[in-house]
Amino acid sequence: MEICDELRSFEATGVYRLDGTGATFLDPVRLLNGSYQRFRVVPSAYYSRSFEPPPRQVGDLETEQPEKRRKRKRNQKPKPRELNAMERIAEARHQEARPLLLSAHESLIKDKQLLEYLSKTTDGKEHTPDAGSVSENNFVELGTSWRAPFYEITICFRKPHILGNWEGSFDVQKTSFSLFNSIINVEAIDEAEGEFQNRHYILPRESCFLMTDFKHVRDLIPGRSNQGYNLIVVDPPWENGCVRQKEAYPTLPNRYLLYLPVKELAHPSGALLVLWITNREKLWVFVEQELLPTWGVKDPTVFYWLKVKPDGSLIGDLDLFHHRPYECLLLGYINVNTDAKQGSNFKLLEGSQVIMSVPGAHSRKPPLEKLLSEYIPGPKPPRCIELFARELFPGWTSWGNEPLHFQDSMYFAEK
Ligand code: SAM
Repeated sequence: MEICDELRSFEATGVYRLDGTGATFLDPVRLLNGSYQRFRVVPSAYYSRSFEPPPRQVGDLETEQPEKRRKRKRNQKPKPRELNAMERIAEARHQEARPLLLSAHESLIKDKQLLEYLSKTTDGKEHTPDAGSVSENNFVELGTSWRAPFYEITICFRKPHILGNWEGSFDVQKTSFSLFNSIINVEAIDEAEGEFQNRHYILPRESCFLMTDFKHVRDLIPGRSNQGYNLIVVDPPWENGCVRQKEAYPTLPNRYLLYLPVKELAHPSGALLVLWITNREKLWVFVEQELLPTWGVKDPTVFYWLKVKPDGSLIGDLDLFHHRPYECLLLGYINVNTDAKQGSNFKLLEGSQVIMSVPGAHSRKPPLEKLLSEYIPGPKPPRCIELFARELFPGWTSWGNEPLHFQDSMYFAEK
């Protein structure tokens, strides 16, 4: 089969624009690998959910525990329940998005070349980190311990040779930094390697991070206003009843987010704000009526992240009320006159779009900078920040209580 131009460009960039619908397919592993020279993200480590053995079938009576079997019987035929007022509004929102989601998904299913390519992405038997057997550092816990101010990370940087004028020469520099509550810049010619408590971390060049609790988030505010950010991505630990989320990370009362210093972080020449949001209607009301106005964002545009399996099928039924196979992102501008027909050096957002990808670990979002680059105002390359981050990117500042989580070397292999 001849590889089409779009597929060739996808191999290089991880971004695939599907014909006609304005939908985009992303391969997060390819996108991330653009950030590394000596290491690469291992697909089986990123797409760990697609590599897991299939869940036991309901009704697999030989292996099912008797208590579980009884519980399943009790739960077998849930009585259809009337939706309450909030749920009816959520359902109407879903119905509005449905045709766009369906047509995006249809365009993916029709693209046989991309599907064939996709099936190979999660093929193969490279090492898969097993959460049970590998003891990663739990930064959330460590950061709250009395020892937190004493923890140090040792980072090994490769910097250009000061005296040497021959190309490719470098000096290796090892420096220790306070791990919590201090801003750490990775100024190096390529990725740096960090050591902390017998674990190894791969840190992309020109990344920057601050590992603190929400209480210290104002330490991020730049000293000079021209050092603000042009892309601000926020992925809050929203409160909800999901048990799996409770195990994965702590949540914050939603109202705390009103105190995130988003306005102070925005670049004076304009910023694009991206907020990841769940499908709960109560949350939408809070975000649209209180949170975004407080942050100075008007008239947000909704994008949808539709999650698919490596064979292109949806990860779940599109119409299942409490488990939609998609999440939403709200995008809007700060310090930008959106009444103008276009920005000075960027495109203004125009209508909803659908992004599709195979999901990684629980709640891990696909990298967005490439997809959004044409919509980001201000100087180029843009200054970008992620709030509540669990990983680092070149040129970005990552803040949260565990921004090194996915930088553990178990997610990488040497090239
Ligand atoms: N964007 C991330 C990704 O793609 O992997 C996921 C972020 S997750 C939805 C929310 C993050 O906020 C978690 O890492 C969680 O530990 C962190 N968090 C929860 N409470 C926090 C707090 N009080 N201060 C700082 N970060 C917090």
